Amino acid sequence: AKSNQESQIDVLIIGAGPAGLMAATWMARLGVSTRVIDKKGTKIYSGQADGLQCRSLEIFDSFGFADRVWKESNHMLEICMWNPDDTGVIRRSDRIPDTVPGLSRFQQCVLHQGRIERFFLDHMKKHSDITVERGVLPIELSIDESCIDDLDAYPITVNLRHLSDEEAKPAQQGHGVQDGLFRSNMAEDDTEDLIRTSREDKEEIVRAKYVIGCDGAHSWTRKQIGGELEGEPTDFIWGVLDIVPITDFPDIRMRCAIHSANNGALMVIPREHSLVRLYTQLSEIKPDASGRADRSKITPEVIIAAAQKTLAPYKITYKYCDWFTAYQIGQRVGNTFSKFDRVFLAGDACHTHSPKAGQGMNVSMQDTYNLGWKIGLVARGICDKRILATYEAERREVAKALIAFDHKFSRLFSGRPARNVIDEQGVSMDEFKRVFEKGNIFASGLSVEYENSMIVQAKRSNQALATNIKLGMRFPSYQVLNQADARPWPFQEWMKSDGRFRVILFAGNYRNKQQRERVQKFCQDLEAKGSFLRRVTPGNSSIDSVIEIFTLHSAPRREVEFFDFPDLLHPFDEQKGWNYNKIFVDDESYHEGHGKAYEGYGVDPERGCLVVLRPDQYVAFVGEIDDTASVEEYFNGLMLDGSNHRNKKMKRKQK
Ligand code: FAD
Repeated sequence: AKSNQESQIDVLIIGAGPAGLMAATWMARLGVSTRVIDKKGTKIYSGQADGLQCRSLEIFDSFGFADRVWKESNHMLEICMWNPDDTGVIRRSDRIPDTVPGLSRFQQCVLHQGRIERFFLDHMKKHSDITVERGVLPIELSIDESCIDDLDAYPITVNLRHLSDEEAKPAQQGHGVQDGLFRSNMAEDDTEDLIRTSREDKEEIVRAKYVIGCDGAHSWTRKQIGGELEGEPTDFIWGVLDIVPITDFPDIRMRCAIHSANNGALMVIPREHSLVRLYTQLSEIKPDASGRADRSKITPEVIIAAAQKTLAPYKITYKYCDWFTAYQIGQRVGNTFSKFDRVFLAGDACHTHSPKAGQGMNVSMQDTYNLGWKIGLVARGICDKRILATYEAERREVAKALIAFDHKFSRLFSGRPARNVIDEQGVSMDEFKRVFEKGNIFASGLSVEYENSMIVQAKRSNQALATNIKLGMRFPSYQVLNQADARPWPFQEWMKSDGRFRVILFAGNYRNKQQRERVQKFCQDLEAKGSFLRRVTPGNSSIDSVIEIFTLHSAPRREVEFFDFPDLLHPFDEQKGWNYNKIFVDDESYHEGHGKAYEGYGVDPERGCLVVLRPDQYVAFVGEIDDTASVEEYFNGLMLDGSNHRNKKMKRKQK
């Protein structure tokens, strides 16, 4: 390209939707030099995804902004199912909890994507100089294969074009209401047109170590690496309408799944600011021979008319409509998620499905939550680059499970209810309820289980020592007390997303002499000259800067002193003194009861155990306190010497 401007960057993120912003947030926290570009001129302000899983909230909390989401969002507690009765009139047939009780300290809630993106942007700003460069389009990508193994090289060259304001604005259909049709899967993408009209004076060249393609379902990045989405669209077309409803339907503030006898199905999602989202099947609009339906026929009036039919004899109308869109159901998974472990795809760029199950934004963010720390720690010289291959291995399985779930769920939803047991064309409402209930566990995001790999050391683990801290799954939370100040905490709240691995030392009954000796021996092993902990920690950094140790013991809090524990477990800092936030106890609190954490975690309160967590809180190892050899093997397999670390890129001080 004939560009005059050339620059280098560690990570280039293409697309600033939920997936791209989650990746950028990791880079902000890990101090990795990063640019984020998006072809659109502005962020989104209404519509799009709104459902948030428990796991997404836990992740937000680990960064430190779940409180903003929790406060602003609408909390959904119950799902009501409505089905035709014997006379064919819809009736409430079931109520189930929206989030399976006890799964997480957060429950499923809804807040629109634009706000979530705002929280990410604020967090990035707080921790870094990374901003989103809008109206910037990548037009060429090449990889220099000769240097893909060289960690200091910048093997990827991307040509960027800066768009005019006009070009960066998506075309609306002109109904006077914001619509999402331009990016619905029923629309053609405009990327090719924009590239064709490229003007060279506004181009630049970026050389990157890693590129993350988070550019949505039409992903340009996917095409550059020869990837494809595999799967088929169906003929079911659904409309989505965000309104402030005026209705006599009693469950409008509940999440509802409504199947009418002959007038289609409707899903009700109660939202923030008195809004309600309706998902309704548009049976009158059919795809043409090319497989696409005519978008211009889809208006808010068409969507509300379909909803009115399903909901009869109840009435529904509105004065205010916030947003609408339509989509054609199709479940597809990318055949590849990366190229040379240098260019990666995440989010809708590698899996698409119907939005009804409220999964898209969550799974997309969780893709880059999985990938971000890996790229960040490799770029910083902390982890071996081989960990990058675990991204595709772990997330492609999740995408496949998501597609299978969505396939079943949306077909059951789109069908008409069976009139009786021999009605094979119809959908059995009992089956629908079963799938819905099972789906709720899946939909929480907490059933994800990563397999044995270099970062999940299942083979040397002893799961029996902590029956409820499942290898490859996220570390669950129970209330524990701080030994130093007696304050109760959900233990998970301490597992921050700051790039550190964690060892959780379940010290067991610390009043017992033998048990104390085991803990002391553990600390001696870790502190010994040449130990893995010393090896991976740079000489000038504090001992908990790469791997952090938390202790949870089960002896009565008042019978044990903070200073009974070896120094390693509450390290000393010249400036800040002792660290009082490392030692916790499973005991009765003054005001919030007993967390019964040992029981919850399934750990023997006498002997305890040892647990290793990855920086994303997934369980990497479970073993005996004395099994430091396995822990050492785990860390030796994936971490580089502390002397290899590259400095963190710090936020410039604002004047
Ligand atoms: P996107 O959000 O699509 O972001 C991609 C970004 O990349 C965009 O900002 C785009 O401008 C940019 N981009 C695209 N191409 C280029 C390019 N060539 N160069 C530069 N930038 C580019 N999910 C849920 O979880 N819950 C829901 O309730 C839900 N409801 C939905 C309702 C509707 C109507 C729709 C359309 C989707 C819904 N989804 C829902 C899905 C959800 O919006 C997506 O799954 C989610 O946004 C995917 O995030 P992403 O970051 O991968 O991609």
